[in-house]
Amino acid sequence: MTTTVFVSGATGFIAQHIIKALIPKGYNVIGSVRSVEKGNGLVSQFGDKFSYEIVPDIEIEGAFDESLKKHPEITVFLHTASPFSYNVTNPEKELLLPAVNGTKNALAAIKKYGTNIKRVVITSSYAAIADASREIDNTQTIREDSWNEISWEDAKLNPVNGYRGSKTYAEKAGWDFVKNEKPNWSISFVNPTFVFGPQAFSSALKKDSLNTSSEVINTILKLNPDSPIPPQKGGWVDVRDVAKAHIIAFEKDEAINKRLLLNSGRFTAQSIIDILHKAFPEVAKNIPVGVPGSDKEVISTLATIDNSKTKELLGFELIDLKTSVTDSVNQILDARK
Ligand code: NAP
Repeated sequence: MTTTVFVSGATGFIAQHIIKALIPKGYNVIGSVRSVEKGNGLVSQFGDKFSYEIVPDIEIEGAFDESLKKHPEITVFLHTASPFSYNVTNPEKELLLPAVNGTKNALAAIKKYGTNIKRVVITSSYAAIADASREIDNTQTIREDSWNEISWEDAKLNPVNGYRGSKTYAEKAGWDFVKNEKPNWSISFVNPTFVFGPQAFSSALKKDSLNTSSEVINTILKLNPDSPIPPQKGGWVDVRDVAKAHIIAFEKDEAINKRLLLNSGRFTAQSIIDILHKAFPEVAKNIPVGVPGSDKEVISTLATIDNSKTKELLGFELIDLKTSVTDSVNQILDARK
């Protein structure tokens, strides 16, 4: 029998890669999207192994009920939908509440109507793992069992705190649901650092700005030689590895009740700039040079990320930064032609 996987937020950067990886493995996929237009756009890319249900807003109580009532054949539910934007004016209303209520609504619907659902995977984040202060303390080691201890009040203060808090409290809502409701399905969490890499389909590049994490590289390409170097620094992982990890999270029993901390390495904007100057010298003439190699010093001030348990469970090599950046930029440059 073909396994049917439900993917919430199917239009997302990560979700599209998950679907792209699921279909060749023989899975049928039902995605939730916010409109018929968005759903039809995905059907034209993925073909007849993909269908969609409309969920206009994950935050509305009962958001997923009808989709699951209609599809008792679903056995796996991947919850990726959550707002990821720093362009918000009210972090509580636009980030925290939709993330937390969206997760609660998904899990409540699965318990009530997902009669055949056995495995649930929630796309959480490194933001739920690392405290902002620990992240910039190089005496600290951050592992799968670390938690961001941000308070709800602090999370309301600005968009960055709001996003970090949204992922922390949404993941906590997931663990609490399982503890309190004792459902007859198993849960796993996927916690990536910044996700880079190409879009699943180059049609996504028609928009001037990309999803929040891909925009880190896209923004660097829009700089001019005199621009200051952007302040970004952190951990990163390629989207194709994130997609594979979501599949392993429900295929392997060792992933049950685990957090998969996905991180390939550390980067700063300078790391990306250095790769661009080497791999795309013509294009890189138009962006700053900065101080080549100075990323190492900045990275040495950051906490150590130890995700050895996750890497062992995954059992595959993670894509390196040079490959991820060059694949992303080649796709962007092709689309510009
Ligand atoms: P994305 O491209 O912005 O995708 C977000 C998805 O969620 C979209 O499908 C969006 O629908 C949907 N969504 C957001 N708010 C919604 C709402 N209120 N109602 C219905 N749908 C809603 O972001 P992404 O990078 O793929 O992120 C996917 C997941 O990975 C998120 O949970 C994010 O927190 C997590 N994550 C991302 C990164 C990263 O660096 N990219 C790192 C760690 C974790 P529309 O397209 O219709 O807006």
